[in-house]
Amino acid sequence: MRRMGKYTAHVAVLASAVGISLAAWGATALVGGEEGAAAAGAGGAGAPKVPAQQADGKDRPAKPVTRVPVGIAHAAEAGGRAVNITIDDGPDPRWTPQMLDILKENGVKAVFCMIGPQAKQHPDLVKRVVAEGHRLCDHTMTHDTAMDRKPVAYQKQQILDARKMIEEAAGGVEVQYYRAPGGAFTPDSRKIAAAAGMRPLGWNVDTKDFERPGAAAIVATVKGELSNGPTILFHDGGGDRSQTVTALRQVLPWLKQQGHTFSFPVRTAPDTP
Ligand SMILES: [Zn+2]
Repeated sequence: MRRMGKYTAHVAVLASAVGISLAAWGATALVGGEEGAAAAGAGGAGAPKVPAQQADGKDRPAKPVTRVPVGIAHAAEAGGRAVNITIDDGPDPRWTPQMLDILKENGVKAVFCMIGPQAKQHPDLVKRVVAEGHRLCDHTMTHDTAMDRKPVAYQKQQILDARKMIEEAAGGVEVQYYRAPGGAFTPDSRKIAAAAGMRPLGWNVDTKDFERPGAAAIVATVKGELSNGPTILFHDGGGDRSQTVTALRQVLPWLKQQGHTFSFPVRTAPDTP
């Protein structure tokens, strides 16, 4: 996610639209109903089950794709007071290692939402991310925050090309989430991601670290807005992230002091408002 001034109003409108559509989207998709089945492309809830021994292997994907809902996830898998740390716009050779060091010092696992070509350029960083127990998230090829107004074929290319680059850089490790740049999700992009096994991923707390308001302000935003929900957004790419590094070093111990634990966003489970 990266907020640009001229998109802010648009994103706000989108966010409320997503909220409304989520409410309407309701239980059918949560249990893998029509929308999810269409997104998966095959094997919907009503489809006859073909015994594995009778199936033609040539018609199957190389790897089984985990069925995930198309709804945008915010909740933590662990529930309770667990929070999700999510870090976007990398990997970056200067900032990502510093963020990884802080996460390791605090025993915290996070989700890294990566730009495809940057992952391809820095496979060592991608491999370190997965080796240290973090999860991967697809953040598209070019971080086009207006992609929600572009053709479906373009959205598909942005999402699936990046997924391929990230997975290859990771040595085949699965990309588990998809986060639209600037929150520019569409029903189509959510279906494309879910069909590829990637849960659409939102956020509850935008630290606005991308705007470099100062480390103290980033920390204060976390403290002030955590009541919004458990998923917190930081950035490890897109410019000088020294304020984010400083803030993360303070925020993680504070979260622990407040009795929070750390989790991952829900992937296969329904989101909980
Ligand atoms: Zn971003």
